[in-house]
Amino acid sequence: MAEVDRDTTEAILEERLAELRRTRTAMRRESEGGTSGEVAHLDNHPADEGTETHERELEVTTGIFLDEEERRIDEARRALAAGTYGTCTACGAQIPSARLAAVPEAVRCLDCQRHFEGLHSQHHSLRTES
Ligand SMILES: [Zn+2]
Repeated sequence: MAEVDRDTTEAILEERLAELRRTRTAMRRESEGGTSGEVAHLDNHPADEGTETHERELEVTTGIFLDEEERRIDEARRALAAGTYGTCTACGAQIPSARLAAVPEAVRCLDCQRHFEGLHSQHHSLRTES
């Protein structure tokens, strides 16, 4: 098994998680300010409503992305704690260290990840319909 610096990896994952939560908090604060601000209602043209709806949809999509990212990081941290980090959870193969350096929250090798995302995107196909 390739050497994985557990402390360093854990610190990287913690940092990514903290960043994720900052993004989420900033997003929430922004959307709250946008809907309750009285100034926004002064020029409430019908055209603006469409833009607002679009922005809200974008926010929901970003929220889903953030949730998934958080779940992946959580999974990687569990693997790290269990000592299985660096090993593909699907096929048991060693995940190349270059991949782990680029994607520290990776818990699958590239082949399994592609397969997993393929199944996953079918699940969420409703989301891309417009
Ligand atoms: Zn695999």
